[in-house]
Amino acid sequence: MRNAALDTSVYLDRLARVRAAMADQQVDAVMLSVGHDLPYMTGYTAMPLERLTMLVVQRDGDPALLIPGLEAARVVPQPGVFDLLPWSETEDPTDIVGRLVSGAKRIAVGDQMWSRFLVELLPHLPNTQFTRAVDVVGPLRMSKDRAELDALAAAGAAVDKIAGELQRGEIPLIGRTEAEVSSYLGHRIIEEGHQVVNFAIVAAGENAASPHHHPGDRVIQPGEIVLTDFGGTMNGYCSDTTRCVFTGDIPADVAEAYDVLFESQAAGVSAATIGTACEDVDRACRKVIDDAGYGDYFIHRTGHGIGLEAHEDPYIVEGNKRPLEAGHAFSIEPGIYIPGKWGMRLEDIAAATEAGPERFNNSDHRLVSVDA
Ligand code: ZN
Ligand code: ZN
Ligand code: ZN
Repeated sequence: MRNAALDTSVYLDRLARVRAAMADQQVDAVMLSVGHDLPYMTGYTAMPLERLTMLVVQRDGDPALLIPGLEAARVVPQPGVFDLLPWSETEDPTDIVGRLVSGAKRIAVGDQMWSRFLVELLPHLPNTQFTRAVDVVGPLRMSKDRAELDALAAAGAAVDKIAGELQRGEIPLIGRTEAEVSSYLGHRIIEEGHQVVNFAIVAAGENAASPHHHPGDRVIQPGEIVLTDFGGTMNGYCSDTTRCVFTGDIPADVAEAYDVLFESQAAGVSAATIGTACEDVDRACRKVIDDAGYGDYFIHRTGHGIGLEAHEDPYIVEGNKRPLEAGHAFSIEPGIYIPGKWGMRLEDIAAATEAGPERFNNSDHRLVSVDA
């Protein structure tokens, strides 16, 4: 995993804001291990190992980054952000953590810290109450600054190039299996500057009716819809886009449904303004599909937040009353799925900004007929 370290000032600023949130919530210490809060706070991504890596942030003093000695060389130092605390193979790292935070009444731990570390820590801290760090770090991660939005835009532009190739018929489909096309998309995602492929769904015909279809041996035929949903991680930030193409002339029922999907997705993007509740963005998409009579076939939420993680807060779903703030970035991806026949989805990443909704995916939004 590449560690894209930013300027130290960025991490110092994030540390100050985390400490303000800690004071607000009466949290004495935050502990972050594997997962995406750690690179957000330090620029360092922990290897998912049985050996403990943990950033311990207390209200005062420099945070400590506890790290297996053999990993220490991978860390880019960030003066003032953390002190590096390498531990040797014969030490007990949970004991070290226990001593660092002894006396802490309330500790917030990262969602993706392995339960074994927390279980081993509990006897060291019998009087401590544990909460989730997502309440402390999550709101900060949700509100992206311009540099983060630019990173999402760059990742989006990179996958848009691949969507464009699909739409121009430059990627052969007919006669190839979904799995072959999926692996080719993965290869192109890397060629276009991503370091990691997160997924490359290819679903043909009736398989497209299953939103998270796993590409398999199904051979793509002339005269069917091909749904592609792909993305990866580029310099720490994720891309995610869905486009459908049709191998041949588009039948009337498919064209009619796609017009509805197109209007629905556009309505969702237009609704994504600062102050609008997440659930109202979902409702804006859903209303168009409901009104056209396809409501029973839109079987998932409208979208998910995106950033360092492919799926993160805020979720664009009924019941989420959180108002959008400047810098919130998320997918808008309504779909219509007719079991046994076909499915379709249209997905862009967008952000709420002072200038209005900003789209990070700009490849053709129509259903294109391809001869490939
Ligand atoms: Zn999904
Ligand atoms: Zn997607
Ligand atoms: Zn998505």
